[in-house]
Amino acid sequence: MTDIEQPVSSTMLSAWEVDSKVERETSHLPAEWEMVIGLEVHAELATETKMFSPARNHFGSEPNTNVHPVCLGLPGTLPVVNGKAVELSIRLGLALNCHVQRCVFARKNYFYPDMPKDYQISQYDRPLNINGWLELASGHTIGIERAHMEEDTGKSTHVGESGRIHDAGYSLVDYNRAGVPLIEIVSHPDIRGPEEAKEYVAELQRILIAVGASDGKFEEGSLRVDANVSVRPAGSDELRTRCEVKNVNSLRSLGRAIQYETQRHVDLYLAGDRPVQETRHWDEEGGRTRAGRSKEQAEDYRYFPDPDLVPVDPSPEWIEEIRQSLPVLPRERRQRLVDAGGTAQAAALAVERDLDQLAFDAMSQGADPERTLKHVANNLAVDGAQTLDPSNFAELVKLETGGGLTATQAKQVLAEMVETGNAPGDIAAQRGFEAMESSELEGLLDGIIAASPDEWSRFCEGEAKLQGFFTGQIMKATKGQADGKEIAKLLAQKSAG
Ligand code: MN
Repeated sequence: MTDIEQPVSSTMLSAWEVDSKVERETSHLPAEWEMVIGLEVHAELATETKMFSPARNHFGSEPNTNVHPVCLGLPGTLPVVNGKAVELSIRLGLALNCHVQRCVFARKNYFYPDMPKDYQISQYDRPLNINGWLELASGHTIGIERAHMEEDTGKSTHVGESGRIHDAGYSLVDYNRAGVPLIEIVSHPDIRGPEEAKEYVAELQRILIAVGASDGKFEEGSLRVDANVSVRPAGSDELRTRCEVKNVNSLRSLGRAIQYETQRHVDLYLAGDRPVQETRHWDEEGGRTRAGRSKEQAEDYRYFPDPDLVPVDPSPEWIEEIRQSLPVLPRERRQRLVDAGGTAQAAALAVERDLDQLAFDAMSQGADPERTLKHVANNLAVDGAQTLDPSNFAELVKLETGGGLTATQAKQVLAEMVETGNAPGDIAAQRGFEAMESSELEGLLDGIIAASPDEWSRFCEGEAKLQGFFTGQIMKATKGQADGKEIAKLLAQKSAG
């Protein structure tokens, strides 16, 4: 079985270079221009076996060990649809608010050495999932045109100085990936800039992982992004010639590729020229895109229904059963925190760090939402934060908002709670973090005034910078345990009186 019940790993999320900012970005293009971006994301499905054969679906095996006559395209073999792959595809489709329909597999014909049948089994005019949408943390909604099933190709390695086919001495082919189940998610051209594109892919990745459809690992090729990029005069709704940028292997590259490619289009238009429709490759080292083949039209692939496969017609009961089994999705997790009193931005960060359940539970036990989410944002980006006990976390926040701990003390106690699992009250007592009575504070200040009468009278006459001097003296005497706000209040009272 696949590990679909596993929670989202926050350590993986941080490796994806996701920007924590969720505001809508400003484009770097001249204000008269607008970016128009649609993304095609291929995700490998988390099945045990391949799309149409019993060969293992596993990353990192010895080359050409996870193979079977079907994925080698040997004559006389026949494909059999992997039911688990269909189920995972429906799970994703439902999570993307798609309509799930009766669908047909089609052959997409082209030649490449890592695709031994000379055609890829995909879906064409009857894809499984259509007409969905995905809401970003910013609240902007991106339309999903389709999410269809297909098989992956094998992997070629061109052996030569550049690693490119043109100057390779020879090429190696690994068929382990040939026939691995894929879902291809095609967005509408609703994306308006590189940051939003990254945000879309990051959200899609969270959804893929949440529903168990894919492990979503860029670094293992489980997620691959192609970007359809064009520009147009701002405010117009025309769609101009687009280029498809391939070979984008990380979120950072995606942002850079979109920056580069849109600027290239604007430069062409400004020079009285125009881009041609083509496939371009992102050159990570050169920081630019390079022309590949001129873009095929659909007819070049000579799509036709695969006669070896029957249509897949999921029953309404099965679809409903899958819908019922879906987990709470990232969008709903964010909304829950917003409803409980958090800001959209703080909620997004909590979900990204997979600490939203902890925060929600603490807030349900009476912890102040703003203070709770502040700790999540500033003090809990550490290993072990997920294991915090929600009641203890709530207790800490309450101690702090109740004045029993200063912000600095709370931060220290929280760090020790993550490390030891001890209760905040015990840690505070052990460290001597008892709330300092204001009378105690006042007594301290009186002593300091007696020792520095000059400074005190200058302060009372309005020399404001001496505030820092007296605050510092009190902090020194209390080893930093006094509350800064309390000190300020006391100084104001005493100097006025
Ligand atoms: Mn595809």
